[in-house]
Amino acid sequence: MNWIDRDKESIWHPFTQLVNGFEHIMVERAEGLYLYTPEGRKIMDAISSWWVNLHGHSHPKIAEAVAEQSKKLEHVIFAGFTHEPAIVLAEKLLSILPSNQSKIFYSDNGSTANEVALKMAFQYWYNKGEKRRTKVVAFEGAYHGDTFGAMSVGDRGPFSAPFSPFLFQVEFLPMPTAENEAEIISSFEKYAHEGELAAFIFEPLVLGSAGMKMYSVELLDKLLKIAKDNSVISIADEVFTGFGRTGKNFASDYLSIAPDIFCLSKGLTGGTMALGVTSCTQKIIEAYKSSDIMKTFFHGHSFTANPIACAASIASFDLLMEKETQQKIEKISQWQKEFKTRIASHPKVLHIRVMGTIFAMEMKTEQTSSYVNEVRHQLYPFFLKRNILLRPLGNTLYILPPYIIEKEEIELVYQAVEEMLQVLDGI
Ligand SMILES: *Cc1c(COP(=O)(O)O)cnc(C)c1O
Repeated sequence: MNWIDRDKESIWHPFTQLVNGFEHIMVERAEGLYLYTPEGRKIMDAISSWWVNLHGHSHPKIAEAVAEQSKKLEHVIFAGFTHEPAIVLAEKLLSILPSNQSKIFYSDNGSTANEVALKMAFQYWYNKGEKRRTKVVAFEGAYHGDTFGAMSVGDRGPFSAPFSPFLFQVEFLPMPTAENEAEIISSFEKYAHEGELAAFIFEPLVLGSAGMKMYSVELLDKLLKIAKDNSVISIADEVFTGFGRTGKNFASDYLSIAPDIFCLSKGLTGGTMALGVTSCTQKIIEAYKSSDIMKTFFHGHSFTANPIACAASIASFDLLMEKETQQKIEKISQWQKEFKTRIASHPKVLHIRVMGTIFAMEMKTEQTSSYVNEVRHQLYPFFLKRNILLRPLGNTLYILPPYIIEKEEIELVYQAVEEMLQVLDGI
């Protein structure tokens, strides 16, 4: 049997319909911007492999850090023991997070980072004896991961429908648009004044999985002010927006009020290893400082603060802080803006959004905009045929390259998008 048939026999892939005929593409190795198949095909990764890759694939500095660390200390229980990579990484992250952030809690991925954040917020109120504070506010259309807590605070749509009887109750604010800011603010105020809110969780400025929906700094600042005035814990899910994607280290760097809790993952290790981080303020820490064992945060994973993942993350962090990388982020942001201007008036374009290195284009179709929009099934193969990996969210096509992409390379993506706009029928 060949690899593809063996894959079909033995593997259940994520977010993938189990229907006949669909074949996964075998990748043998990857370097920089490109994925290589055993047949010698070279595919440009223009979506950073699910938004995780920052510095290109198989980066030699990250690879070396991983190799060195795995020879020295591959893993150790993180309760009762600690190690250098975890400490160094925590210090580095705290040095670029807003100054109100005081401690780093490690977990395994973006979903767990959010689970930890929610549990941290719920138990904060439990420890303080405020039993009324049990409600959460989130945005409609949000994505915070696929575990139960993360699903509960996320979009109640097709992805979570089979599980809806099992999700906890959440108060949802409408997904922000240019028109509904006043409505969002007044309904958040209403919830906040009731005094039962434990937390407000949000993707700052960009709702990624919802289709790279962007909203204003002013709106989020106003919501954070309401949260602060009413002692509601604010949780910034920067799993996607962190590490330069929006043009700054964190989307929250655009805000004038710093959130209480941050969730990080995806770009955290430069896309090399699974790792999650939840950081919090000293105020939250204080509620857990007690000799009462019931006030302990009983949460941990077998691989919490895995030293190899921390080492990969330190190497990625250092690459991100290099002047060259920071300048490149600015350049990519500029190219994306210029491309927006170039195609904005095309009749098949409904809406284009750019924030930092993120470019997203909503296409005009017969169907309404959504993840299940059929145009996706035309777009994905169109670009793959041209050896470019773009994976639309329904009728929203986005370009999210690693920061090593060169002008000529991103130009190839732009030209393919223009060609698609010209030739694709029925959309
Ligand atoms: C991807 C994502 C998550 C979930 O992260 P996983 O590592 O896939 O569990 C959570 N929040 C946001 C904003 C994301 O984009």
